[in-house]
Amino acid sequence: MIRGKKPKRGEDMEHLVRNEVKGMKRYIAGKPVEEVKRELGLTDIVKMASNENPLGASPRVREALLDAYGDVSLYPDSGNFELKKALSEMLHRQPEEIIVGGGSDSLIKVISCTLLKKGEEIIMGEHSFSRYEDNALLMGATVVKSPMKDLRLDLADMKARITDKTKLVYLCNPNNPTGSSFGREELEEFLQGLPEGVFVVLDEAYLEYVTRRDAFHALDYLDTHRNLIILRTFSKAYGMASFRIGYGIVDKELAGYLNRVVDPFDVNLYAQRAAVEALKDQAFIQRVHEENRRGKEYFYAELSAMGLPYVESDANFVLIDVKTEDFEVFQELMKAGFIVRPGTYLNLPGHIRVTISTMENNRRFMALLRQVLNRG
Ligand SMILES: *Cc1c(COP(=O)(O)O)cnc(C)c1O
Repeated sequence: MIRGKKPKRGEDMEHLVRNEVKGMKRYIAGKPVEEVKRELGLTDIVKMASNENPLGASPRVREALLDAYGDVSLYPDSGNFELKKALSEMLHRQPEEIIVGGGSDSLIKVISCTLLKKGEEIIMGEHSFSRYEDNALLMGATVVKSPMKDLRLDLADMKARITDKTKLVYLCNPNNPTGSSFGREELEEFLQGLPEGVFVVLDEAYLEYVTRRDAFHALDYLDTHRNLIILRTFSKAYGMASFRIGYGIVDKELAGYLNRVVDPFDVNLYAQRAAVEALKDQAFIQRVHEENRRGKEYFYAELSAMGLPYVESDANFVLIDVKTEDFEVFQELMKAGFIVRPGTYLNLPGHIRVTISTMENNRRFMALLRQVLNRG
């Protein structure tokens, strides 16, 4: 040690760490299946906690992986050329407008690092995706939370909170963790007359599950709104969460800046090749959408019969008001092998967030929930 005193083991490092980091909380993810198996000695576990796809991924992904194995020793293409080309063809946008990263999580960090200056503000829903907040805090930005209206984003309130300090507004649609969505009219009203220096991140992680009739095509607004940032992912409907790959569609000039911040090898070679193949199997996505829609109807019917309020969902999960202590319900469900997300971890006490699974799992889950809640 040349400079400063040696930190003691355990404590004492606080003065070495950036203040922004001290204000952050660690992300609490859905409990992994293996952890529950270890802790409770169970073998049959159903995870309905992290909005993963119960149908897995398209069979094409497996083929792509086997084919790619020969290239295990190579660096991936840092330009993501093939994937950008495939996305460009599917979306009818130029490759230069597409950014690719290690999941939308990674892109949220890239956007924050690129745009947020100390003291600037982001606006997000009070109950929305927590990564928006953590990455803003990391950059020394201030987080402004807009109260929800019946657990739905209130776009009028969010817009009213824009000040000359506002840099980013996060519209999560459908919104995690509530599942709620907004339609064309609400979006257009929001975008109307927005100040020029305000960027709008439209996080469409659950796009493929949307069923509402007045859904909009976010890409239609890109040419008229240069400050629109559309985020999508392969983690949810594409069933590829383990790969860590997501993408964004943005203004070309902005893409140039964001690409300076993305780690050059953020997306590994397997993820890139698998994503290109997965895009070709839109029949799989259609099946995923259909299964989820059926599961959602079943959830609604069962929850209504049990007298449990829920938020109408446009995603692959449902936020349920269990009318009692959520953490106990979470633990009881887990003892029986079902992992859900307790509201306690989502700042929504009294609720659980449950991923819609296969019909068989959905039925087993609802029977168990009845039993745990004594709603019989
Ligand atoms: C799951 C999720 C993401 C993250 O997706 P990754 O691509 O796996 O990082 C982003 N936004 C929302 C709202 C999500 O629910």
